[in-house]
Amino acid sequence: MTVSTEKTRYGSTRGQAPETGFSDILLAGLASDGGLYLPTAWPQVSVAEQAAFASASYVEVARRVLTRFTDVAEDDVADDIAAAYSGFEHPAIAPLVEIGPDLYLLELFHGPTLAFKDIALQVLGRMFARALRKRGGRATVVAATSGDTGSAAIAALGGLPNIEVFVLHPKGRVSEVQRRQMTTSPHANVHNVALEGTFDDAQAIVKALFADEPFASTVGMTAVNSINFARIAAQCVYYFTATAALGRPATFVVPTGNFGDVFAGEAAMRMGLPIEKLVVATNANDIMYRVLETGVYAPGSVQPSLSPSMDIQVASNFERALFEASGRDSEWLRAAMAGFARDRRLELPPHVRTALAARYAAARCDDSETLATIARAHRETGHLIDPHTAVALNAAYRMNREAGAPVVVLSTAHPAKFPDAVAKATGVTPTLPSRLASLFEGEERCITLPNDKALVRAHIESMLAL
Ligand SMILES: *Cc1c(COP(=O)(O)O)cnc(C)c1O
Repeated sequence: MTVSTEKTRYGSTRGQAPETGFSDILLAGLASDGGLYLPTAWPQVSVAEQAAFASASYVEVARRVLTRFTDVAEDDVADDIAAAYSGFEHPAIAPLVEIGPDLYLLELFHGPTLAFKDIALQVLGRMFARALRKRGGRATVVAATSGDTGSAAIAALGGLPNIEVFVLHPKGRVSEVQRRQMTTSPHANVHNVALEGTFDDAQAIVKALFADEPFASTVGMTAVNSINFARIAAQCVYYFTATAALGRPATFVVPTGNFGDVFAGEAAMRMGLPIEKLVVATNANDIMYRVLETGVYAPGSVQPSLSPSMDIQVASNFERALFEASGRDSEWLRAAMAGFARDRRLELPPHVRTALAARYAAARCDDSETLATIARAHRETGHLIDPHTAVALNAAYRMNREAGAPVVVLSTAHPAKFPDAVAKATGVTPTLPSRLASLFEGEERCITLPNDKALVRAHIESMLAL
């Protein structure tokens, strides 16, 4: 099996940034025209190679898939992947667990911070360190988090040389476990900000700092949010391993916030993986459900929920899906995103809706249904599941399922990360894995700032001693 040596190139969804290679987009995050990077052509994985994945380890499949995206030596990619997954608790990395007839959980939470974001960020951190060593200079990562990206970024980047990490989380809107995973980091290069606002406010400040060209270039600003394509590349791997393990195409149900994880499913499809359908499952923050059902993309106001990592109204990665659904029409997309920025509303043209409907279906679920689903899963299968997983499992329970057609629910967090909701639903408090037992002893480091870009910028400058 030969892997093409032709290097994948990347261009912006908005078509006005120069094409470039993987190391550049890894370090840049967002494209200079405000768009998101995608491969100029999707690398392909043949049917024969996909079938061979069934007998390969997760690390091996990750190597085969990721080397198609990168521009660094294959051995270096292999080393970074092996090191990244050596810290996972489960030997399968992303085990597929059967919980009913043709119904599976794909457990993505066996990494150091107990959420699926470790799967991409543990690799990304190592690739980052390598790229910076080669290039020199320093990078400043500024990340907005609804809870899990922040802790996973800190676990991946804390203590690395030449990188400073600023994480903005919405004050009081993340769980205690999530907050402590961020604020008890002992590393001096980790800086936590509790922002007096919502996740969308935090994300808007990060985007505004990127757009602030003198600032962004002075600090070497970069992003590890799922706007960074390297995350999507690492996440498409488990769609391949799960499909290979089943031996037939599945429907994947994905608890969705910023649309990164589910778009990784589209990426796998575009690389040649057969997938029946991608079901976008949202909580009461249902912008993605509404746009897929009605064709109108219009944010409401963020409502706190039991699944806080999905409390999002603007789903950044949807831009990637729109770009593909429009037939890669960056001119249309540029006008559409400008109109959306102006009017907070975007009506999708029929051809874009049709293209989206060919891949995606949607479901939504409120907090009471989330609790009922956690209770039902526990009662019927003995499994404790976290509230994000429950949002997706609720959709799977409600689907018209054909016998023999597998449904895979992405299980994105360990139940112990959200013990209050799990205990409320089942009466059972999930226990934290022992490697996290010290979480409640560490001292917290965090500064509270108002929802104000200028103040966040001044804080970053003062910490960097600029
Ligand atoms: C981030 C996150 C999600 C949502 O993933 P997106 O890629 O933002 O759609 C779902 N569940 C958990 C536990 C998460 O941390």
